[in-house]
Amino acid sequence: MHNFIKQTALSIGFDACGIAKAEALTEDAAFMESWLAEGQHGDMSWLARNFEKRTNPQLLVPGCKSVVVVLLNYFPEEKQNPDAPKIAKYAYSETDYHLVIKAKLNELEQKITEVYGKDIVVPEFQHLFVDSAPVLERRWAQRAGLGWIGKHTQLIHPGLGSYCFIGILMLNVETQYDEPIRPQCGSCTRCMDACPTKAINNGSLDARRCISFLTIESKSDIPDEFQSKLSGCALGCDICADVCPWNAKWAVPNNHTELKPAAGMLHWDKSEWQNLSQEQFNVTFRHSAIKRAGFVKLKKNISVTTQPE
Ligand code: SF4
Ligand code: SF4
Repeated sequence: MHNFIKQTALSIGFDACGIAKAEALTEDAAFMESWLAEGQHGDMSWLARNFEKRTNPQLLVPGCKSVVVVLLNYFPEEKQNPDAPKIAKYAYSETDYHLVIKAKLNELEQKITEVYGKDIVVPEFQHLFVDSAPVLERRWAQRAGLGWIGKHTQLIHPGLGSYCFIGILMLNVETQYDEPIRPQCGSCTRCMDACPTKAINNGSLDARRCISFLTIESKSDIPDEFQSKLSGCALGCDICADVCPWNAKWAVPNNHTELKPAAGMLHWDKSEWQNLSQEQFNVTFRHSAIKRAGFVKLKKNISVTTQPE
């Protein structure tokens, strides 16, 4: 079953697949408890909800025994116009990545159940996840042998780097499991040194300082102390990933047609972004993950990040 699942995941188009035993994430629970108590999650109050379920898959999906983790490389072939306010690479795609991965996970589940029977999933509980439920995706990916969690807190896959989406399929059957990989950051601190807001502290991320959080998740205006530190970022931030030597070594452009960039977006220059209208936003990003941030937030971010020093 182990090999069948992994080979099927690759045949469907995922770039990597691993399987971990479903068990309580005791160490992560302790870390998250103090991280939340310190308020480092900012106004992402949803992170504090379902705390027990986030750290114990059996509470989330009763009967769950195995966690299948898949990766989809999103590193783009083409980058934005260098003059433009920066959009994180994960958001280039015309189609929202949640939909792309969900469709592939559904196909994977269907192929597995065709061979091993429908009883290996519990249909009455959600068991496919893409950023959509209380699941610690990076930890499961690490446990499933798909890489290690770098000091910048992202998963680094040996062979793909860190520009990967993570999808999860929970099964209520035991199988063989993959061995976790030893962390390979060593004495490197490039991500910590490059972070313009000093949001990384050796494997812990203060979301309140992170440009990704400030430009996407946060409901508040960007605090004054960070306005001059956005480094041209308008939606998300790739700075710590871009400087990581493992990405320089391993990240290669994805070959997923489903992730083709939203029409024209990569060629827009600064003034085209500044003059983006609500209608143009609605049309260009109608299926994109960018619409989750919303037009108003994006325009505010553009205005802050392009203001003269
Ligand atoms: S995403 Fe940007 S702001 Fe956040 S930790 Fe990385 S470099 Fe710092
Ligand atoms: S930049 Fe260095 S420390 Fe940071 S994640 Fe990459 S290897 Fe690890």
